[in-house]
Order: sequence, then C-alpha cells, then structure tokens
Amino acid sequence: MPWKIKCNECGTIAMLNVSFDISKQKTIYYYCKVCKKNTFNDILGYLELDEEPNSV
Ligand SMILES: [Zn+2]
Repeated sequence: MPWKIKCNECGTIAMLNVSFDISKQKTIYYYCKVCKKNTFNDILGYLELDEEPNSV
C-alpha cells in the first residue's frame, strides 16, 4: 500500500510502497532522492485512494 513519508532532512514528501504495516513506527529509514542518501522519514500516513487513480 502507498504511504506518504517526509524526509526529516529536506522536508521532501515522497511515496513509499511497502507490503508490511509501518503504521506502528514513527519514522522509517529510507533513501531520499533529494538528499541522495538514506535519511529518517516521518510516516505521515496512508495515501488516500483518490490521490493515486492508477493504483490497482
Ligand atoms: Zn531528503
């Protein structure tokens, strides 16, 4: 499912598709395309379905 995450270092909001539940954690260590390195990202929540019409 698509999650909305926000880089703690540059503030970029990105989508993350993971098959497991990450809602129990506050942050996730993930590669940021803007920082070009792994950073801590705040997990903002699920992406609303109407924001991604292409999802199956
Ligand atoms: Zn970043």
